[in-house]
Amino acid sequence: MKFETYHISSDIKRNLSDLGFQRPTDIQYKAIPSIMKGEDVLAIAQTGTGKTAAFAIPIIDKIHRSKSSKRSWGIQCIVMVPTRELAAQIGSVFDALSKHTKVKTIAVFGGVEQDPQIKKLADGIDVIVATPGRMFDLIHQGAINLKRVDTLVLDEADQMLDLGFIDDISAVKRKLPQKHQTLFFSATINKEIKKLAFSQVKSSAIRIQISPEDPVSKNVSHFVVFVEMDDKRFFLRRFINDNPEARIIVFVRTRVRAERVAKALERGNITSETLHGEKDQKDRTDVMNRFKKGQMNILIATDVSARGIDIADVHYVINYDLPEKSENYVHRVGRTGRGTKKGIALSFCSTEEKDRLEAIQLFLNKPIEPLSVSKQDYADTIVFSNEKESVQDLIKEQEAWEKTKKKRKKK
Ligand code: ADP
Ligand code: MG
Repeated sequence: MKFETYHISSDIKRNLSDLGFQRPTDIQYKAIPSIMKGEDVLAIAQTGTGKTAAFAIPIIDKIHRSKSSKRSWGIQCIVMVPTRELAAQIGSVFDALSKHTKVKTIAVFGGVEQDPQIKKLADGIDVIVATPGRMFDLIHQGAINLKRVDTLVLDEADQMLDLGFIDDISAVKRKLPQKHQTLFFSATINKEIKKLAFSQVKSSAIRIQISPEDPVSKNVSHFVVFVEMDDKRFFLRRFINDNPEARIIVFVRTRVRAERVAKALERGNITSETLHGEKDQKDRTDVMNRFKKGQMNILIATDVSARGIDIADVHYVINYDLPEKSENYVHRVGRTGRGTKKGIALSFCSTEEKDRLEAIQLFLNKPIEPLSVSKQDYADTIVFSNEKESVQDLIKEQEAWEKTKKKRKKK
């Protein structure tokens, strides 16, 4: 089955072909017809398998048709996402797929000025891709009118429902016309969240699940190395020096860790950049763009960048720290092996993290292959260094960070 044979506008077909998309992926093949029929859909499919286009294609087609046949105005679709980078990215996918059509999209997110967004909204926009905070601001200011919205999408739906946004989402749904379609997409979901999702939709909602036993794209190979906390940065330096051309995302647990790892790399003359929620938005956008363009090869990130981000040619995802939540392992390593590309996920596991590794393997339903490295492999770097960072220090730092997070949440 090729996109050529689909009953969608020829302009969209041309855009698909320009993007090099010939055939639908499994999730696109299953989700597009149901969405076109107007069903509510809960779709779960592995990382990097084209979920964005699975909802964007039918939505753009519908709006394009309605605008071609009658004078139509007002926002018709809202896509809610958890991070700013993801809002920008999905906004560009909508733009690319709606070239030459009448469909206009805006990405709306916090950390940047509101006025340009408000101006653009006033120009007549069909699709809004938004993070919840900024979207509610704009709704309350009257800059976003929900009267004509007939499609609501939650991408990374499990996180959107889990972040405590459920009340906000219900509030938005109450403001929409009664007859509207709700679409949930993610690579992971658990039982409770699934229940919560179903409480938000029609009882006839369609459930599509592609390969639920394996949430990571089959293009990703998984490995673990057992490295003690104190040795991780030496091992990382060694790994990067051994793979000088590789494009790598290194995931760490906290923003403080991110900065520390960057410094440790700098001491080894390795250039890297950090990406985390404490940076201002201009820096975040700048770092992301430079990494996307290939102007730098090593990105050190916290879980803010774990979900949804689609960057071509990431060769390795390194879990410098194992994630606390097993599903975040899936999202992190899903930054590699996207589309038809292959990728490698390498996790550093210290003695203290063995329980987490166990939990992740249970979540994945499969063991992660251990790579044997001896301390000799990177001992030379250790011997010549007098850097010291004790596990105790790390734990203290972690606790301080957790406290700050709690305080912020209360505010
Ligand atoms: P997901 O949301 O499932 O993680 P994305 O929607 O970000 O995945 O898509 C992952 C990659 O696959 C993107 O780079 C996208 O351009 C590519 N892609 C999507 N659909 C197709 C298709 N039908 N054929 C080829 N590549 C595709
Ligand atoms: Mg996605």
